[in-house]
Amino acid sequence: MKALQYRTVGAAPEVVTVPDPEPGPGEVLLKVTAAGVCHSDIAVMSWPAENFPYELPLTLGHEGVGTVAALGAGVTGFVEGDAVAVYGPWGCGACLKCAEGKENYCLRAEELNIRPPGLGAPGSMAEYMIVDDARHLAPIAGLDPVATVPLTDAGLTPYHAIKRSLPKLVPGSTAVVIGTGGLGHVAIQLLRAMTACRVVALDVSEDKLSLARTVGAHQAVLSDAAAAGKVREITGGRGAEAVFDFVGVQPTVETAGAVAAVEGDVTIVGIGGGTLPVGFGATNFEVNVSAPYWGSRAELIEVLDLARAGAVSVHTETFSLDDAPKAYELLHHGKINGRAVILPNG
Ligand code: NAD
Ligand code: ZN
Ligand code: ZN
Repeated sequence: MKALQYRTVGAAPEVVTVPDPEPGPGEVLLKVTAAGVCHSDIAVMSWPAENFPYELPLTLGHEGVGTVAALGAGVTGFVEGDAVAVYGPWGCGACLKCAEGKENYCLRAEELNIRPPGLGAPGSMAEYMIVDDARHLAPIAGLDPVATVPLTDAGLTPYHAIKRSLPKLVPGSTAVVIGTGGLGHVAIQLLRAMTACRVVALDVSEDKLSLARTVGAHQAVLSDAAAAGKVREITGGRGAEAVFDFVGVQPTVETAGAVAAVEGDVTIVGIGGGTLPVGFGATNFEVNVSAPYWGSRAELIEVLDLARAGAVSVHTETFSLDDAPKAYELLHHGKINGRAVILPNG
């Protein structure tokens, strides 16, 4: 089968032919219908060879949906042809966090060398993929595969971040979304669907700000040194009860810290390497700062239910598997509005 692989540190990913995978006991083989292109992959492909954490070659793709093509020995609960989404942050399934469905925070994943598809294990940017356990599948019958695949990360990650701040996002409150790309433009829609707060979007690109307005941001502000002052103005000096930073570089985490209201939440989702000092006087009083990772199995099901209710519509641009390297190139240059989605069998 064809697969998009990152093969050499520093080189672009390549479309190659690899052996067709076969599901072992307990595993599920999916025929991939759609695979999402996440900015995290670009970060991964920028890491130096010295401490590169995964084995190469690596088949990319940690957002995947497909149809069940074959069940390994002992698998129950699914039949061939079922349309499913893959829950990506695989864990051991048995530790305390996994028992709560929070496999993204599995206590034993590292020790047992369990890696998410596309981030260590072979990913979704291939005609077929192996899912290690049926519990990592969520049914998506009736949902469009292209519109749904980004929900497994670009939906789930902001959903998890927002859910933690819901008690603060009461009517009259403000949420700031920094970076309105793949994750950010879904975050705006989730905020509008789940809360009555005012949503202020920040981005560096006019195209992205325009998408932010289209998907429900009340205000869209250019992300520069003046942005924090503008957000303070918009909020009458109070600041934002919740700030979600989907960039995470030093200037954006500084903006995030500067606009957080008293008792506000700053959630750094972007992996740009910026850090926000915490200490008396560093931010407003009692600001909570956190940097979460992905979301739980239950939260993926909740996001899919929100999509079924019509509350989120992901803007997508589709590419064939052969054009997947081009999709990464465009994303790298900020030229994808919404989420790029690869169709490995399209
Ligand atoms: P994306 O490229 O689709 O979107 C990023 C957006 O940020 C773009 O619209 C870009 O114009 C904008 N941007 C860039 N610099 C900016 C600045 N200084 N101020 C405001 N906006 C700016 O990327 P994505 O796939 O949505 O991923 C967003 C980030 O989240 C990445 O860092 C990614 O690695 C990270 N991520 C983290 C998790 C997690 O679990 N913590 C999960 C998925 C993605
Ligand atoms: Zn991702
Ligand atoms: Zn576990």
